[in-house]
Amino acid sequence: MKILQRLEQYRQEEKKLAWEGTFKDYLELVIANPKIARLSHARIYDMIVSAGVEVVNGVKRYRFFADELFGLDRTLERLVEEYFHAAARRLDVRKRILLLMGPVSGGKSTLVNLLKRGLERYTRQDEGAVYAIKDCPMHEEPLHLIPHELRQEFMEEYGIYIEGNLCPYCSLMVEEKYGNRIEEVPVKRIVFSEEKRIGIGTFSPSDPKSQDIADLTGSIDFSTIAEYGSESDPRAYRFDGELNKANRGIMEFQEMLKCDEKFLYNLLSLSQEGNFKAGRFALISADELIIAHTNEAEYRAFISNPKNEALRSRLWVLPIPYNLKVSEEVKIYEKLIRQADIDIHIAPYALWAAAVFSILSRLKESKKQGMDLIKKMKLYDGEDVEGFQQKDVAELMSEVEDEGMSGVDPRYVVNRISSALITSDTKCINALDILRALKDGLDQLPSITKEEKEKLINYIALARQEYDEIAKKEVQRAFIYSYEESARALFNNYLDNVEAYVNRTKVKDPITGEELDPDEKLMRSIEEQIGVTENAKKAFREEILIRLSSYARKGKQFDYNSHERLREAIEKKLFADMRDIVKITTSTRNPDPEQLKRINAVIDRLISEHGYCSICANELLKYVGSLLNR
Ligand SMILES: [Zn+2]
Ligand SMILES: [Zn+2]
Repeated sequence: MKILQRLEQYRQEEKKLAWEGTFKDYLELVIANPKIARLSHARIYDMIVSAGVEVVNGVKRYRFFADELFGLDRTLERLVEEYFHAAARRLDVRKRILLLMGPVSGGKSTLVNLLKRGLERYTRQDEGAVYAIKDCPMHEEPLHLIPHELRQEFMEEYGIYIEGNLCPYCSLMVEEKYGNRIEEVPVKRIVFSEEKRIGIGTFSPSDPKSQDIADLTGSIDFSTIAEYGSESDPRAYRFDGELNKANRGIMEFQEMLKCDEKFLYNLLSLSQEGNFKAGRFALISADELIIAHTNEAEYRAFISNPKNEALRSRLWVLPIPYNLKVSEEVKIYEKLIRQADIDIHIAPYALWAAAVFSILSRLKESKKQGMDLIKKMKLYDGEDVEGFQQKDVAELMSEVEDEGMSGVDPRYVVNRISSALITSDTKCINALDILRALKDGLDQLPSITKEEKEKLINYIALARQEYDEIAKKEVQRAFIYSYEESARALFNNYLDNVEAYVNRTKVKDPITGEELDPDEKLMRSIEEQIGVTENAKKAFREEILIRLSSYARKGKQFDYNSHERLREAIEKKLFADMRDIVKITTSTRNPDPEQLKRINAVIDRLISEHGYCSICANELLKYVGSLLNR
């Protein structure tokens, strides 16, 4: 069995990870590879970058976040480059608490979790290996054993920087047990684990009255205090607060701004000085990323209080807005739906329609001439629109403040989709079902005002309009493809006529064999589709013939795809001609055998090539029929 093989492999890996040695052995490892002794921020930075970085439209995209966070490229680039990269180089920014600020379900917790789970994996790999003094309750960096007086020399000789003091527990142990022969002190490799409380900590403020600082900094051990006689004996103290346990890694501070001030001041000292006060000991060194999160309202209240000024200057605040790209929003829903294990067909563009609604609710109006929310939405999603191009995106973004900091939460959408699925017994859900479910659920949104509700209803209507356009195109395309033959026929017919026009000859009717004058009306009806004017038609036709003969000389077939503009004209013409066929075919109540054949071909095509099931393909056809007959 495969699982048994994997278990054996796993045990081998565990054995490798259980490396133990003396400080002397460790020194050899560190000198050979100084990265082993890097500080927490540098380790996290290396972890992120080692997963891979690509540049998309001038913005860095990190593989590390790519499967879980969507539409946050610019935000993540700031986080990695301005915070982690600078902190990894030991610039001042590492002394700041990283505060993620943004709306609910906007990715703050996901981001923190990615870093935590990432470190758990990274420290199991060779490039992420971490070592600690064995038995140290804070699994501290073994280089702390090197006395301060010798550190400068060590730095000069090996280029390895040492920061921090031995913890009280290790200090005593080195003295009592090893008589200060530090080279004999045992060292072991450690693997970060939130579950085992190694290198990863989480603090969540409880009721302010019962908040205990011991949760952060540890506490006196009443079971051993009688034995050691003094509260200042480290053996009578438990270094098991979250700050102790998160040493070397990451400490998550949930809802930080809800915390009592005395907690915050401990953090202030830790971030600023790299140490904190616990029990009756000298300051305790700790090297960890402190990452906190909060929402915008709490943050605004916090900074408006002058009492918080000192702490405020110690924060590095990163706004995490909601995603503003429709295509990325669809990925968020797909991920949430996958997690919910919903076994039902979701019609093409169903999630897209919901995403259009969500993104519209998050965007802010631009003052630019000719720009509206729909255009802005398309532009943000990478599509050029009339009057604006991708290069205008940055300017549009900087035009308004706080864009994406409010609006519809992706969870609302997914909850509505889920409830629509549960209450109906259909096997397939389409865009209209989802938009209806979104509308029906608006009253459940907490503290929604009448104006807000009206706005959201309007966004649902806009999303519906956008969907209608897409639906029509979907069906027309399916019709045209099943009419590939007629596209080719139209193309050949046009060429015959152009040839006769330019050479002043006649066209032979394919059926009667009759000699006819070139069909001016037909040629013009095609040329007009791409704006060829009456004055320019002669030149256009001559150019086509020149192209045709040059193809013939090279022995190449001049076909439907050979001339870009002509192909466009043919398609447009076909689309226009098709409109009536589509209209009649899709809306007829009693299709004749010919129409039925056509309908079935279109449905087959929608299913086999465009991701529809038989339910949503039939519904789409019916819906588009009703749209075209309005
Ligand atoms: Zn220690
Ligand atoms: Zn379906």
